[in-house]
Amino acid sequence: YLYGGILRAFVLLWINTMPSFAALQLASPILTAISELGYNTPTPVQTQAIPEILAGKDVLAGAQTGTGKTAAFALPLLTRLLESPRAQNKRPSALILAPTRELADQVATSIQRYAANSELTTLAVYGGVSQNPQTEALGQGVDILVATPGRLLDLLNQKALELSAVRWLILDEADRMLDLGFKEELIRLLKQLPKDRQTLFFSATFPKSVKDLAYSMLKQPVEIAVAADNAPIDSIEQVVYNMDNNKKRAALAWLIGSGNWQQVLVFVRTKQQADDLANELKKDGIKCNSLHGDKSQGARTRALDDFKAGKVRALIATDVAARGIDILELPWVVNYELPFQAEDYVHRIGRTGRAGNSGKAISFVSRKEEYLLADIETLIKRVLPTQWLVGFEPNFDEPDGGENHGRNLRKQRQKAKKKAKAQATYGIKKSR
Ligand code: AMP
Repeated sequence: YLYGGILRAFVLLWINTMPSFAALQLASPILTAISELGYNTPTPVQTQAIPEILAGKDVLAGAQTGTGKTAAFALPLLTRLLESPRAQNKRPSALILAPTRELADQVATSIQRYAANSELTTLAVYGGVSQNPQTEALGQGVDILVATPGRLLDLLNQKALELSAVRWLILDEADRMLDLGFKEELIRLLKQLPKDRQTLFFSATFPKSVKDLAYSMLKQPVEIAVAADNAPIDSIEQVVYNMDNNKKRAALAWLIGSGNWQQVLVFVRTKQQADDLANELKKDGIKCNSLHGDKSQGARTRALDDFKAGKVRALIATDVAARGIDILELPWVVNYELPFQAEDYVHRIGRTGRAGNSGKAISFVSRKEEYLLADIETLIKRVLPTQWLVGFEPNFDEPDGGENHGRNLRKQRQKAKKKAKAQATYGIKKSR
């Protein structure tokens, strides 16, 4: 009895010290919605950000995807919206900027779920799809607008939209918006927004360009986890296999087959490689699809839906196209090729190990990619243990491409960096 009583007291004490949503002063329709979604305990970024946002402070938060960052800004935002009078003429009171269509869609869907028990309305507008339905929906009025910068500027220029009632501005994945060349658009948009507003700035990484942008638009912000910006989520096990390029495809097919992987996201550097690898894996009998920026919005949505529904086992994606993919419990991410930009590694592996689930990120590194691995290790401030995959060990008699190849790759990286920036900007703007 005595021991049982002591144990119960400890358990109760422990439960009471655990953070809870109820203690966070969120509006009751929001609390009901998240409890229906099965959210029991706030994630660390939620525990830290929600009280500051409710107190009306500007926030600068370092949050990778998968940490619960959307709810971290959406739950207090909805609470504040419910407590304030709605804007006249049904103009948007809150504006959320996101780098890609996929992320904009995903954020809007999450907010609609959190707001399900209220009358607040949310709309996503982005390029690549017809503008008319978006203009019509805007005409009917909306409280929360989620937008990619390009389409938003188009709509503003056409006077299909007015932002003078915006009191909350949120930048989601700000680093990615700068990567995609949206700096000018952001500066132009900021000029059109009321100065009297609360601004929340979320980014996974904080290079100088991102910090400069943040401090130019935030007023005495509260900083949350900004220092720990580049550390990948601890729940992700990272494995590096040294491997010749010409063995990568067979190794991937073998890992998928022998490990009976049912859902693996594979990253490559180019659209061509995504298509080629998907075709090769299909020949190996693995159901798979590719996801990249040259595909139509419809094809991208279909590829994602099929992957989420388990109809395809492997999705071969480029970095830009894969932004914002939110699949809970995605167990495997494979870096078939290392990214040219080390920050992309952090974004890629953040697709697994989400919301406290464990995940594994596997990187295939050929000898000519070793300097890219060094860049990543410098960024994440950690040396990643390398190993050989039995049966796919590097062949030292026939060097993988030789020295010239290594030099070529460096040249390619410089070219790719310039091209990617131009193309990403052009690609997204072109298909606004
Ligand atoms: P995000 O970082 O916003 O992309 O969120 C990652 C995933 O975690 C999403 O699928 C959310 O639905 C889920 N999530 C966010 N907060 C919680 C929470 N407190 N408890 C359980 N799941 C959550």
